[in-house]
Amino acid sequence: MGTRRVHVVGGGEPLLRRDILEIMSAVKRFGMEGVLTTNGTLFTEGLIREIVRCGWDVVMFSVDGPNADVYEDIRGVSGSFDRVYSSMKSFSRVRAEFGVCKPLLHIHCVILNLNFMVIDEMIDLARDVGANIVTFDKYYPEYEDLILRKEDLSTTLRNLQKAYQKAQRYGIYINVEDFLSLWMKPSPNTRCYWPWLYADIDPNGDVLPCCFSHDVMGNIKKHSFRQIWDGEKYNNLRKIFKKKEFPDFCKDCTLYPGLINRVPLGKVLHYFRLV
Ligand code: SF4
Repeated sequence: MGTRRVHVVGGGEPLLRRDILEIMSAVKRFGMEGVLTTNGTLFTEGLIREIVRCGWDVVMFSVDGPNADVYEDIRGVSGSFDRVYSSMKSFSRVRAEFGVCKPLLHIHCVILNLNFMVIDEMIDLARDVGANIVTFDKYYPEYEDLILRKEDLSTTLRNLQKAYQKAQRYGIYINVEDFLSLWMKPSPNTRCYWPWLYADIDPNGDVLPCCFSHDVMGNIKKHSFRQIWDGEKYNNLRKIFKKKEFPDFCKDCTLYPGLINRVPLGKVLHYFRLV
């Protein structure tokens, strides 16, 4: 299929899989780029060493606070911050020991009304643990009481500006510009190319055109991925996008207009002069 990148991502915690290392090693053996998204609490020293050894490209930690107080207030699990913190530190140490730059360490932070006041400190945390990338994301509201309030917006913007300045100073890649553009009205010509570029495969084998969609294109236990990708259902969906229309599931998109908040790995690798 010529797949360039495999993103091992949750909807659950991927490190719960016993065969996670087998999957990751296979991705690298076949010459593809690998990105892992994790809450970072289940790493062991052995697993970290194997991930570094196999040449994995990016480990993205979901961390919504720069210290134990904020992080554990959001996660509701005491002692969890220390586990994530020491995993990130261990990755940096093992990378240095092996004399390699990869995996890049990526901290992904969803901005909520519980952390907007300390988001610039995420950059200090990144610097401390040796992380290379910090991205902020808009909250996709599941819980009303976590949504950022209007009166907190000016503090949020000020802290984003501080974060940007710190990131520039420390050589950390940050997505503040892309993040802010999420609030801009997309131009009428905005298009999304996701159905041509990406597919989401759920643990049960269902293939979805986007993580926001529940519209199953097929199941890899019944048909080959190629059959699903080139199949009628996928092509009918692409026709809608070609007409610059968007199906219903796009109304909740925090990536809109089209992949905006996904860090383009090529851009990041180029930033760190790795390609
Ligand atoms: S517009 Fe957003 S929700 Fe719709 S397919 Fe593109 S990335 Fe997914």
